[in-house]
Amino acid sequence: MNIILLGAPGAGKGTHAELLSKDLKIPTISTGNIIREALKSGTEMGLKAKVYTEAGKLVPDEIVIGIIRERLAKSDCGSGFILDGFPRTIPQAEALDKMVKVDKVIDIVVPEDLIMSRLSGRRVCIQCGATYNVKTKKPKVEGICDHCGSTLVQRKDDKPETVKARLRVYHEQTEPLVDYYKKQGKLCEINGSNNIPQTERDIINAVEA
Ligand SMILES: [Zn+2]
Repeated sequence: MNIILLGAPGAGKGTHAELLSKDLKIPTISTGNIIREALKSGTEMGLKAKVYTEAGKLVPDEIVIGIIRERLAKSDCGSGFILDGFPRTIPQAEALDKMVKVDKVIDIVVPEDLIMSRLSGRRVCIQCGATYNVKTKKPKVEGICDHCGSTLVQRKDDKPETVKARLRVYHEQTEPLVDYYKKQGKLCEINGSNNIPQTERDIINAVEA
């Protein structure tokens, strides 16, 4: 089962990608993580991406697509995968359609005021990138990552003034994807306002439908 997760920042995409990955026993492929991996392991695309990240520039589409292609060719994707953070644009979606068959696209929908309150509580591990929330997904020890013991911080991105700008960019860039996959009959809209277990059940039901 090849799945794409869509949702605005703060919709719970990362959390549900992790849960769905455990439920379906297929890997989650998050763009941020695999770009970091490709940089570290020095793959062909990783080396190309390095030129941009070192200059503080956004990695261009064709390189991101190349990194995704390298990652999807690995054996652990044999029975499927969950994409988190890719595609972000129509050209990326079209490139993905040429690589693999997408089965389901899960769009986690959450009202903007709820997103604002969720993101202000978000904390992220400076070492491994795991995310927590001071209200809904507390670490075992306050301010410390459960996975690696490093410090949790609030990203600049999660401060209210930047959240609003991020939501605007998200809507402009990614909402065309919603229409793109709706036309293909693959889109499942999930109400992400409920608690995590309820949303998880709704996602599983949509995937298995
Ligand atoms: Zn950590």
